[in-house]
Amino acid sequence: MTASRVLVLNSGSSSVKYQLLDMADGSRLATGLVERIGEETSRLKHTDLVSGATRERTAPIADHGAALKSVAEELALDGRGLDSPELAAIGHRVVHGGQTFTRPTVIDDAVLAEIERLVPLAPLHNPANLTGIRTAQALRPDLPQVAVFDTAFHTTMPESAARYAIDVATADEHSIRRYGFHGTSHAYVSRATAELLGRAPEEVNVIVLHLGNGASASAVRAGRCVDTSMGLTPLEGLVMGTRSGDLDPAVIFHLARVGGMSTDDVDTLLNKRSGLIGLCGDNDMREIRRRIDAGDGAAELAFEIYVHRLRKYVGAYYAVLGKVDAVAFTAGVGENAAEVRAAALAGLEGMGLAVDPALNAVRGDGARLISPAGSRVAVAVVPTDEELEIARQAYALVGN
Ligand code: ADP
Repeated sequence: MTASRVLVLNSGSSSVKYQLLDMADGSRLATGLVERIGEETSRLKHTDLVSGATRERTAPIADHGAALKSVAEELALDGRGLDSPELAAIGHRVVHGGQTFTRPTVIDDAVLAEIERLVPLAPLHNPANLTGIRTAQALRPDLPQVAVFDTAFHTTMPESAARYAIDVATADEHSIRRYGFHGTSHAYVSRATAELLGRAPEEVNVIVLHLGNGASASAVRAGRCVDTSMGLTPLEGLVMGTRSGDLDPAVIFHLARVGGMSTDDVDTLLNKRSGLIGLCGDNDMREIRRRIDAGDGAAELAFEIYVHRLRKYVGAYYAVLGKVDAVAFTAGVGENAAEVRAAALAGLEGMGLAVDPALNAVRGDGARLISPAGSRVAVAVVPTDEELEIARQAYALVGN
């Protein structure tokens, strides 16, 4: 029997999301989520996507080891346990691969040590990712475990885009440069956009707008990322659900010197209390739209600031690429919020960019064009699928 299944694990600090996929046909066999690990109110929700059965448990799950054991039990109940000979690999989402990891990598001790060395660059995420990997290794020491890095797709950025204009020695001493995130999504969506156009990825230039709670834009030339909006951390770039995105760095000195805020206070302000939630108290675009419809001025201004920044990045990446074949919207907001798509590109007909109101209003699950027929630049909605991309990359690597 050929092993064709891949378990994809996305381990956060107090949660594990997982999917089991069959790479023989790309189908999804199971999906689930363990939340609130380490609390009394831990919850596991598992769905067998073949039978459609869903099971939930709410019992304390002490740590990631216990969480993964519970996941293994659920998969075994479906008849697809972790001991199955059909399991080819476990693919792990790892947030930060620094400059070291430019592609998916089979995990060994040296790889683990390097992910650990990169912890200062992603102090919340990499430790959780490492815990997930070590736990999975303990359960199936014989199975290839593959790390797929959020930063890898962006390692093709030229130095002109990746370097900040600060003292070079200081930057290098502290590994300060633009790494970018959401790379797995940008890779998947840029390729799927080329597919939608019926062209090879090497033949097209795409601006990808990944608009979830976190949000980032990327400029992809001939399948390779040449610029992206997130930087050393995911704080830079677009206005997000709770993050400010771009601002004058002197705001931070001002808050410290004049506002008396500590580094941690400013970190929390900019990452958790800024962006849409900071501007209007809500970070869910659906709620913001409801409030705008009810005549709420703060919600309207938040929406306008969000869209203004987005439009600036579209213009910037248009200039970076020179020639653009498509703009692709993805993730929660990009896939669902027709108003954001329309507003971001309104008035850009001179750049060959337009959104057809009727096509934009159609709701659907698949990749679709929303630009008027004959547009110079295609505008598309392309649902992202990070789990499928991680599974594909892991499976390609283990050589089945
Ligand atoms: P993340 O993975 O970053 O948590 P998602 O890609 O799931 O985020 O996007 C979540 C966001 O998508 C929500 O905060 C909400 O603003 C937005 N969203 C989801 N569904 C809709 C919808 N139907 N209309 C508008 N916005 C939506």
